[in-house]
Amino acid sequence: MITPDKNTACPCGRLQGKRSLSFEHCCQRYLDHFDSVPAPDAESLMRSRYSAFVLQRSSYLLNTWDASHRPAEVDFDANTKWLGLEVKAHRTIDLEHAEVEFVARYRVQGKASRLHELSRFTLKDGRWYYLDGI
Ligand SMILES: [Zn+2]
Repeated sequence: MITPDKNTACPCGRLQGKRSLSFEHCCQRYLDHFDSVPAPDAESLMRSRYSAFVLQRSSYLLNTWDASHRPAEVDFDANTKWLGLEVKAHRTIDLEHAEVEFVARYRVQGKASRLHELSRFTLKDGRWYYLDGI
């Protein structure tokens, strides 16, 4: 688990105007206070999960994974360096379902790659969960 300085830019890269939001003002509240501060929408949850991958917060990833699709554990590849996230689209399907399309860039042993995924999210008891992605 990695804890960045609260003033550093959030790993998820969210902007406010043209400035990067700090970790403190972006994903930290969701990562540090899972029980009391749920991400308010699917995009925020998706961003916080990306930050959780960067910061290796496995319990947060498992807690925000819908039980029907949740893996037994989350492993972090020490060779993978996450470089940035770009959210392409956030679509509301209905009151309880949303999709977020994103591109995450990363590097494995010096080789740059990108993950382009359409993630599905579901709202249960007032909280968004990650379902799956294609
Ligand atoms: Zn963030």
